[in-house]
Amino acid sequence: NQGAPRPALKVLLAGPRGFCAGVDRAIKIVEQALDRWGAPVYVRHEIVHNRFVVEGLQAKGAVFVEELDEIPDDGQPVVFSAHGVPKSVPAAAEARQMLFLDATCPLVSKVHREAERHHAGGSHILLVGHAGHPEVIGTMGQLPEGSVTLVEDAEAAATVQPPEGPLAYATQTTLSIDDTTEVLDVLRARFPHLSAPVKEDICYATTNRQAAVKAIAERCELIVVVGAPNSSNSVRLREVAEKAGCPRAVLIQRGRDFDPSLADGLSTIGITAGASAPEVLVEEVIARLRERFDVVTEDVTVAEERIVFNLPRPLRAPAPTAA
Ligand code: SF4
Repeated sequence: NQGAPRPALKVLLAGPRGFCAGVDRAIKIVEQALDRWGAPVYVRHEIVHNRFVVEGLQAKGAVFVEELDEIPDDGQPVVFSAHGVPKSVPAAAEARQMLFLDATCPLVSKVHREAERHHAGGSHILLVGHAGHPEVIGTMGQLPEGSVTLVEDAEAAATVQPPEGPLAYATQTTLSIDDTTEVLDVLRARFPHLSAPVKEDICYATTNRQAAVKAIAERCELIVVVGAPNSSNSVRLREVAEKAGCPRAVLIQRGRDFDPSLADGLSTIGITAGASAPEVLVEEVIARLRERFDVVTEDVTVAEERIVFNLPRPLRAPAPTAA
């Protein structure tokens, strides 16, 4: 069959996809810390949930740990991951006089401050999110134990029994918008005085990536989500794709994990990537597809993103001196 034309395949590229401003900042923090202080730079938890990114930083001298007590007192800096940390973590680092750099995404910090504000005003907090995710652990760890109750889904919202008194809610930044609306509808029906955050907690990047995947879902027979199985927003993208009308969506970490024969017999597929997945991994998937198909790509972009976050103070360039 040599020389036979390869079957045509249309590939819709959802935009925005991949890196968000919080992930970009977190990776830069580790890279610049390595430039400034040399290796090793310790990183508490995967800086972002992507193995390719983590392995790339390891190769440059980053050392990943789960807890601070794994780090020796060698004067080298430690970076906290983009997901945020409980207050006890910077407190422990200060007690050990460690040099620490906080890569918590500013949009996660915003959720932390709002939860603190509601707590200071006397409210108990209902946190909508997934048990065990580091962001949830970090947000719960902003407040004294017992001040926050986790609500994982609509079923839990229907039965949760918070203490008497004022109530406020907060959410994880990377949830499914539609599922969260459902959970909040149940909570608001049960607790009409439930206070909301000033600005929604689900972040712009999650919102835009879900809107983009919805925009292509009905045109696609298969959607490939590039992202890690422990990346909340990537897992949500796969679910959103199927709920929005695509018959099948798969989550893969990178091109070499992708079997292009999945697209056999199909005419249009879509590709998106979670907020912690670099574009090079999307390119790998397209390259795999080109081995088997005559690929034509089409960008479907629903929003332009120009957000950039400042680096933490110790890494900011010195201000120019006045003439
Ligand atoms: Fe920040 Fe949203 Fe990116 Fe998370 S997904 S790091 S909250 S911008």
